Amino acid sequence: MWFLFRRWVAGPRREQAIRHARKMNAKGIGTVINFLGEHYTKQSDVEKTVTEYEELIREIRESKIRSDVSIKLTQFGLGFSKEICTRWADRIVSLAERAGVFVWIDMESSEHTDDTIEIYKNLLKKHRNIGVTLQARLRRSGKDAENLAGATVRVVKGAYKEHSSVAYTGKDEIRKSYTDIIDVLLSGRSRVAAATHDTKMIRYALSKKSIEVQMLMGVKNRLKIKLAKRGRRVKEYVPYGEKWIPYVMRRMMERKRNIVYVLRSLLE
Ligand SMILES: Cc1cc2nc3c(=O)[nH]c(=O)nc-3n(C[C@H](O)[C@H](O)[C@H](O)COP(=O)(O)OP(=O)(O)OC[C@H]3O[C@@H](n4cnc5c(N)ncnc54)[C@H](O)[C@@H]3O)c2cc1C
Repeated sequence: MWFLFRRWVAGPRREQAIRHARKMNAKGIGTVINFLGEHYTKQSDVEKTVTEYEELIREIRESKIRSDVSIKLTQFGLGFSKEICTRWADRIVSLAERAGVFVWIDMESSEHTDDTIEIYKNLLKKHRNIGVTLQARLRRSGKDAENLAGATVRVVKGAYKEHSSVAYTGKDEIRKSYTDIIDVLLSGRSRVAAATHDTKMIRYALSKKSIEVQMLMGVKNRLKIKLAKRGRRVKEYVPYGEKWIPYVMRRMMERKRNIVYVLRSLLE
């Protein structure tokens, strides 16, 4: 079934992600590889994830591709133990540090925001090769940006449906929050990556020299190449693995036209 979604997912296997990353690198685009999976409740699933990331980091180093990795903390057991999650994440970040690989922490639904930032800050005491994500949709993110002065932060709009008590719901409010967060982070001397496909937000990011632009695999491919040719730092987020359903569902919900695209591919 994943074949229908190959535009957004490199494939079920690690070597497919590595192969895709090599192709993107040849076009001047860096990658951020993510092994799909989230909300694990069993230690055995967490251990499989850790082993997979260890192999992934080794292969990034050996194949000499230009790639970061991205992890979700609920893949590392955040849902059942903050301590276990921190220990596994620390192990992955340490290994990545030795391999010269940067690790991004994805931000999940708002129930995990406090723990994610706390774990990130603890890891940052020992490692420099780590960044965290803030969601412009969340009302709290402006304050979080102030508290992350000096850190490395990826700014996204936020892919999770949240209650209006914690989240902005209007398009313009979310855009304003997005650019405000960037401003706060830059004034706190944080390193910023703008992860978005919104033309207005990309233009805002491009007006700031130091900002890296990140986009998802399968979205705005021509723009990525164009920006890379202009000398901007551009990265593509490349997910792989068998647990692609929640990821692909989020992409469908973001753009209803994607549903039509998949239905049409089914008929071909
Ligand atoms: C590198 C990267 C990392 C991310 N990490 C996280 C994370 O850790 N946590 C999190 O909550 N979210 C994450 N996201 C997802 C993000 O929060 C948004 O859900 C997603 O990027 C869509 O928002 P947008 O900024 O592109 O703006 P939108 O307003 O949703 O989209 C703007 C335009 O971009 C195009 N577009 C957007 N999405 C798609 C799509 N799926 N398919 C085709 N065209 C599309 C359309 O032309 C659309 O009109 C990440 C996104 C990127 C690019």
